[in-house]
Amino acid sequence: MDLYISKPLYDFFERLDRAYFIEGESKAYAKHDVALSIGYGATISQPTLVLQMTQLLELGKKHNVLEIGTGSGYQTAFLAEFGGEVYSVELIEALSVKARERIENLGYKNAMFKVGDGTQGWKEYAPYDRIIVTAGGSQVPPMLVEQLSPGGRMVIPVGPRISQQMLLIEKDERGHVKQYSLGEVRFVELKGKYGWES
Ligand code: SAH
Repeated sequence: MDLYISKPLYDFFERLDRAYFIEGESKAYAKHDVALSIGYGATISQPTLVLQMTQLLELGKKHNVLEIGTGSGYQTAFLAEFGGEVYSVELIEALSVKARERIENLGYKNAMFKVGDGTQGWKEYAPYDRIIVTAGGSQVPPMLVEQLSPGGRMVIPVGPRISQQMLLIEKDERGHVKQYSLGEVRFVELKGKYGWES
C-alpha cells in the first residue's frame, strides 16, 4: 500500500501521543513505526498502517463507524476524531476497559465500546457507513458485509495467519459489493465465529 495521507490526518497523528496507549516495556518504542505488544496476544498497530487504513476509510463526521479489535484504542482515537459515532468491539474485556478510559480521558464523547465477538458485528447500531477490522481473519465475515450501509466502505485484512491482504470493500447504493486487494500486511489473529478458532 502506498497512499497519500491527508494533512489533517497526518497532523493529528503528530499531535496524538502513541505512548499514552501503551504500557510496560513496549512504551519505550512508541515512536518507532512498528506494531508493539500490549499484552493478551494483542498489538498496537504500526502507525503507517493506522494512517493508511484511516485514509482509506475517507471518514466524515456524518459517518457511523464500526471498529473490530479495539486493542489499545489508538486507532479508535483516529476514528473518533474524523468520524461521527464510533462503535468499537473487542474480545478481551481488560483491553476494552482501558481503551475506553483512554478515549474518554482524551475528551471524545462519540465512541462506544463493547466486549464480544466482532466477527458478528454490532447489530444494534447497524448499518455502518464505515467498518474497520484491525485483526487478520481467514475470510470476510458475512455479517460485517450485511451491516455495511449502501455506499459504505470497509477495510479488513484477510488471509493466512502469517500474512494477509488488505482489502477495501465497497458497497454501492444498490447493494452490490466490490473488493480490492491493496497489498500484503500482517496483523494478529481475528478470532471468533467467522475468524480463526480460539
Ligand atoms: N487497533 C488496535 C489493534 C489491536 S490488535 C490497536 O492499534 O491497538 C487486534 C485486536 O483484535 C486484539 O486486541 C484482539 O483481542 C482483537 N480481536 C481479535 N479477534 C476479535 C474478535 N473476533 N472480535 C473483537 N476483537 C477481536
